[in-house]
Amino acid sequence: MLRLHNSLTRQKEDFVPLEPGRVRMYVCGMTVYDYCHVGHARVLVVFDVVQRWLRATGYQVTYVRNITDIDDKIIRRAVENGETLRALTSRFIGYMHEDERSLGVQPPDHEPRATDYVPQMLRLIERLEGNGYAYRAADGDVNFAVRRFEGYGRLSGKSLDDLRAGERVSVADAKQDPLDFVLWKAAKPGEPDEAKWGSPFGAGRPGWHIECSAMSTSLLGDTIDIHGGGADLQFPHHENEIAQSEGALGCTFVRYWMHNGFVRVDEEKMSKSLCNFFTIREVLQKFDAEVVRLFILRAHYRSPLNYSDAHLEDARASLLRLYTALSPEFRGDASAAAIAWSGTHERRFREAMDDDFNTPVALSVLFELATELNRSRDPALEARLRALAGVLGLLAKDPEEARRGGLLGSDAAQDAGADDVQIGQAVAARAAAKKARDFAEADRIRAELLARGVILEDGPAGTTWRRG
Ligand SMILES: [Zn+2]
Repeated sequence: MLRLHNSLTRQKEDFVPLEPGRVRMYVCGMTVYDYCHVGHARVLVVFDVVQRWLRATGYQVTYVRNITDIDDKIIRRAVENGETLRALTSRFIGYMHEDERSLGVQPPDHEPRATDYVPQMLRLIERLEGNGYAYRAADGDVNFAVRRFEGYGRLSGKSLDDLRAGERVSVADAKQDPLDFVLWKAAKPGEPDEAKWGSPFGAGRPGWHIECSAMSTSLLGDTIDIHGGGADLQFPHHENEIAQSEGALGCTFVRYWMHNGFVRVDEEKMSKSLCNFFTIREVLQKFDAEVVRLFILRAHYRSPLNYSDAHLEDARASLLRLYTALSPEFRGDASAAAIAWSGTHERRFREAMDDDFNTPVALSVLFELATELNRSRDPALEARLRALAGVLGLLAKDPEEARRGGLLGSDAAQDAGADDVQIGQAVAARAAAKKARDFAEADRIRAELLARGVILEDGPAGTTWRRG
C-alpha cells in the first residue's frame, strides 16, 4: 500500500483516495513571465513521477497543473516590453512546454489558465462574502478575513499570533488583519484593459490564491486527493487555498498535501537576489535533460536538492553507467504492463516507491540490475531494468547514441561534435598503425585518447569508441 507524507498532519499516512481506484491531483504551476528555472524543473519532475507511479500501480488519475497568466509581475513585464499580456504569457507557456518535453515530463490531463476561470473565481468570492469570510476594504479590494476562519494556520502548524509575528505590517493597509489576503484586486489607473474584468465588486482582477481554489474545484470537484507544490507555497499560498475553498464550500478541500523541498546552489538557497539562479535552458546547454531528471530523482523529493556542476557531472556518469549496461539490439518487451511485481528487484522497487516515493532507493535497484546485467548479458534482465526505469521516465534513448554523445547538453554536444571528427581520425590512424604492426604507435594513440576521456573497444567488427 502507498504511504505518503501529508504536510497537513506532518506524518506518513496510508493513501486512501476519496473514490477507490481514482486519484484527483492538483499541482500549482508556473507564473509565466520568464523562463523556468531549476526549482521549477524539480516540481515538474517530482509530480510527474508521482502521477506516473499512481498510474503504474493501477490508479485512474486526473492530474491538473495550472498556469498563472495574470499577476503583478506579468503586467509589469508586458508593459515594459510594450506587448500584450496574452503575447507575453503565450510565449513563455511555449518555452515551458519545450522544457517539459526535454525533461520527459508528461503533460497533465488539464492545464487550465487562470484567465479562463475568472467567472468561477467570482462565484467563490461571492460565496465567501455570503458566508461572512470576505469583506470589501476601503481601497476597493475584496479581502479574506483570516480571523473568521477557524483552523487558519493548520497547514503551517502555527497559530495566528505566530504567523502575524512573521508578517511585516504595512501602515497604509486597508486590511483588518495583516494576514488578510486579497481575493479581488480593484483595478488601478494605468493598468492595461487586458488586466481588468467586470465584477459585482467593481472592475479588477483576481488575487493569486483564489485562482487555484477555482481551477481545482472546477476541474476536480470540491474535495481532491492530492495537492502538490513547492515547499515555498505552503505558506501563505496553500494555507489561503484551504481557507478560501473550505470557507466557500464547507467541506474538506484536500486529503493529502505534498510539498517538495527547495533547490539550493552550492549550499545556498537559489534565488534571483543571490544571482545564483539557473534556468532549465542554461543547464541543458551543459547536460542532457535526462541527466537533470536523474539528478532530481536521486534526492528524496522532500529533501533539499543541492545544485552544482559537480553533482550534475556525477549524475551524468551514473546515467552513462546505466546506458552502458543496455544493448542496442534489445527487442524485448519493456513496457510497464510487462513488469512482474513479484520479482525480488521489482518488489524492492515497489516498496521504495510506495514508501513516500523514495526514488533514491528505487534508483539503487536499477543500478543493481545494471551490475547484474553487465555480468550476465541476459535479455530478460535487460527487459526488467528498462521497464522499471521507464516507470521513472528514464532510459528511453538509444543506448548507443547516449554513450556516443556522452549525455552532454546542446553546447557541450556541439563541442563534442567537432571532437568526434578528430577522434574518428585518431581511431583510423591507430587501426593503420596496428595493420603496419607498429604497436607502439597504436598504444600511444590509445593512451592519448584515454587521457581525453575516450575509451576504445576492439571487437571483431573493428574498433568502437565511447566517452567514459
Ligand atoms: Zn496554487
